[in-house]
Amino acid sequence: MAEKTLNTEPTQIPEVIGVGEFAQKLGLPVTKVIGELMKNGVMATINEQIDFDTAAIIGSELGFEIEAEVVEEEVRPEKVKMAEGEGETRPPIVAVMGHVDHGKTSLLDAIRSSHVADKEAGGITQHIGAYQIKRNDRWITFIDTPGHAAFSALRQHGARMTDVAIIVVAADDGVKPQTKEAVRHAKEAGVQIVVAINKTDKEGADPNRVRQELSELELVPEEWGGSTPMVDVSARAGTNIDKLLDVVLLVADIEDLRARPDGPADGAVIESHLDAGKGPVATVLVRNGVLKTGDYLVSGATYAKVRSLGDFRGKRISSAHPGMPAVVTGFKAVPSFGDLWRSETGEKTARDAAASMLRREQAKTLGVKKIDASQLSAAISAGNVKELNVVLKADTQGSLESLQESLDTLRNDEVAVKVVSSAVGDIAESDIAFAKTAGALLIGFGVGLGSSLKALANRESVHVRLYKVIYELTDDLRDALSQMLAPEVIETVAAELEIKGVFKITKANVVCGGTITSGRIEPKLRLRIKRKNEVMGEGTLTSLQKDKQAAKEAFEGETCGLNVATSIAIELGDTLEFFTVETKARTL
Ligand code: GDP
Repeated sequence: MAEKTLNTEPTQIPEVIGVGEFAQKLGLPVTKVIGELMKNGVMATINEQIDFDTAAIIGSELGFEIEAEVVEEEVRPEKVKMAEGEGETRPPIVAVMGHVDHGKTSLLDAIRSSHVADKEAGGITQHIGAYQIKRNDRWITFIDTPGHAAFSALRQHGARMTDVAIIVVAADDGVKPQTKEAVRHAKEAGVQIVVAINKTDKEGADPNRVRQELSELELVPEEWGGSTPMVDVSARAGTNIDKLLDVVLLVADIEDLRARPDGPADGAVIESHLDAGKGPVATVLVRNGVLKTGDYLVSGATYAKVRSLGDFRGKRISSAHPGMPAVVTGFKAVPSFGDLWRSETGEKTARDAAASMLRREQAKTLGVKKIDASQLSAAISAGNVKELNVVLKADTQGSLESLQESLDTLRNDEVAVKVVSSAVGDIAESDIAFAKTAGALLIGFGVGLGSSLKALANRESVHVRLYKVIYELTDDLRDALSQMLAPEVIETVAAELEIKGVFKITKANVVCGGTITSGRIEPKLRLRIKRKNEVMGEGTLTSLQKDKQAAKEAFEGETCGLNVATSIAIELGDTLEFFTVETKARTL
């Protein structure tokens, strides 16, 4: 039975805590805490760390009330909506999403090349993650990292950095799983959607069928009485690009995008790398305020005194206004893509904020575990095809369908994902029981897992993984399936030798001699014994002699004495083929 304590004050625990320190906070002997951890399937020693969730479960089972320690606020840009007329109008920030090969990159290129003046376009030597164009004297900012990864990273940090999502659908291919995912992401983020029906120049293009398919996703075209603008374009032929931009501007007008031009600046990091000469370089998008050289910024666990600012053309600028992408140098370390940033009043506050973020980040990564297929033996059913059994729980029918479609593609002749059950809703006790019986991995998508269920899953040794983004789930499962693939065995012939004499044969050993006809040999090499081109068996070279002296190696043309570990009685005239074997992990 759990012990009750008289202490009614909740015990505050950080995101990660050492087992010893945890016991101390509870005023219990550490063996008691370790024992309780073991009961819950967690093997941890006094010096190891446990995460908050684990501490909360163990603590409550020991009769304590556990509370998360209050930490400083994460960098978070303001989300206040400006009142009418307040602030200044800013350019819309646009992301391009859609299924692979539907033309996202081509569309971004077509927009850039048709709207950035030639002399400027020539000056764009580096891809900085965003660019701006001018249409009818108004700026539009494009995030130039197509794909959902970029969008999700920005969204996961809680900020709506993009205002408009252009969803590209190829007119000859129609709505595909990633199209659905893009739509779902955009809707969840509350971003305005504009559809670009691309490749209309192609034979077999059927824009109307695309409209029909999109309507089924509750994106009804404006011309059919719905509210989603759709433009037929061809990125290749450059058709209707201006029309698409006009629609984007129209959507921006309706949104009345404004930003606060004064006060501290904030925004997100949309590209970052380490430059050999300049050090950490980041492209940031300014959301509010004006970013100037000399400003102090904090982003994630790093900070900067802005040394230089550049625009998307690589031109030096002294300040960047809301909606603008700017290249910043001066960071102490490379900030992470998708992280938010804000300006600070001075070096000390910036450094302190970064240090506190670093502690939080370290705590978070401890909790992030990838699927380790070696731990999933129960979930892997062997047959001709090794299958990874999965129980799926998702937030909506739509996600469930996209997931099913994506998971169906994760297979080859040897390995596959097998969904043994799937349903909409939060993970329940019955799911854990079912996953245990079915020997399956339990996957939650966009759903939660309470701490008591987490403890139950631990006790039942059911592996639970929670995801919010499909590509992270599919990446993880692809890794797990790759681990299940038998490694590739690469054999290389190192040398050949002809047997000229056999001196002693025992059950497991042959002492013999011969001449190397090609290659180089050394002790420990594996070998095949061939007699008239027939393979008799295998062995290993245990030692090597040249002129009756032990040798480390011997080359083509040399005659040497050999000690071979083998059960085959080697004969005069046999050929020994020496080879090396390497194994290489395969990927799905
Ligand atoms: P992404 O994977 O969505 O970025 O797609 P890409 O921009 O790389 O385009 C995929 C393929 O479709 C490429 O071979 C492009 O040349 C082709 N493509 C893109 N847009 C068009 C278009 O409007 N018409 C035609 N015919 N082909 C296009």
